Amino acid sequence: MIFSSALIETAVNEFARLPGIGKKTALRLVLHLLKQDSSQVQQFSDAMARMREQIKFCSHCHNVSDDEICSICASHTRNDDLVCVVESIRDVMAIENTQQYNGRYHVLGGIISPIDGVGPEQLNIHTLVERVREKGITEVIMALSPTIEGDTTIYYLSKKLKDLPVKITTIARGIAFGGELEYADEMTLARSIFNRLPLENYVQQK
Ligand SMILES: [Zn+2]
Repeated sequence: MIFSSALIETAVNEFARLPGIGKKTALRLVLHLLKQDSSQVQQFSDAMARMREQIKFCSHCHNVSDDEICSICASHTRNDDLVCVVESIRDVMAIENTQQYNGRYHVLGGIISPIDGVGPEQLNIHTLVERVREKGITEVIMALSPTIEGDTTIYYLSKKLKDLPVKITTIARGIAFGGELEYADEMTLARSIFNRLPLENYVQQK
């Protein structure tokens, strides 16, 4: 791609660094911004910079938050007995969109994957065990991808929690959800949370 302006070229290259954005799309976005008032473009870039600088991670569940404690943990109408363990904040959003789950969450920040160099010590596992021990949580729902890494993580967590008086369940499987929770349609995901199984049943299915 040949540019007559180095400024345009730089902006296109920045957009093209984003996932799923090729050079052509990047150029289209840049040309769109060029047509806008400079105040609107300023608003756009301010919003991005502010989001990156000011975002916090909830000290209870590690979800993204504008404050020290996220709105889900701060809510008084949520069920304190239930904690749903997920890989990432995208999974929290996917499950929240179903509007069928009223418990709390715990975001691991990844799953155990030796190939990618991710071990248990890099994940938010210690805080989960602490929460279960101290907050009287009665059920931990494992809502992780049905992959080897997801299973390894479930197995590891279940060992860590085994001496605590907590029931461990997994979201129902056998329904295609493509490996990542966020791709499941809302009905399917809601059903798989509703029809969750005790961990023993999940292990037997394998
Ligand atoms: Zn939280």
